[in-house]
Amino acid sequence: MPAFFQTKINMIKHCFSCNSQGTLELGETHKYLLSSPSCWAKYGQILEKEYSNQDYFKAHRLTVDAYALQHPGIKNSQTIQSSIVHLASLHMIFHEKVHHEQAVIEMARLTNYKDQFLWLAPPQNMFAVNVDDILKASTAEEHYLLVRNWALFVYQQWHEHIPYIESLLKPNNV
Ligand SMILES: [Zn+2]
Repeated sequence: MPAFFQTKINMIKHCFSCNSQGTLELGETHKYLLSSPSCWAKYGQILEKEYSNQDYFKAHRLTVDAYALQHPGIKNSQTIQSSIVHLASLHMIFHEKVHHEQAVIEMARLTNYKDQFLWLAPPQNMFAVNVDDILKASTAEEHYLLVRNWALFVYQQWHEHIPYIESLLKPNNV
């Protein structure tokens, strides 16, 4: 193999959380949703699409939940709260069929009880769907379907913690 191609391949850095591809060695990332710099930049591109077009924005709730749960970081008070509220959001949307706006209201209610939250050990492997797939969308409709598929995949990987999430969502239980 020519040296040029060798070098190029070596430069690709996969995100350790979601396996998306990128070449950035250094760069900005979220302070506790840990990812590679390239992955964080791609997430920024997805958010830009959603913030600049209301048809793309229809997927926004699922985008934010999927990204946060796929990049859970390490155990601390912020990541404990993050994983629980985002998993609760996806559970309400996929299992209880609530509207995205209602999920946001319930997430805010849940955070009142954050002092009682337990750390949920993240799934071992969440590599099958990631930001690379979402950026392939060329229409808002396609974007929504890809994001929904991504969020559903991430939700399913976290399935062992669903009984705990259900116990938190029961009225009067937190
Ligand atoms: Zn990533």
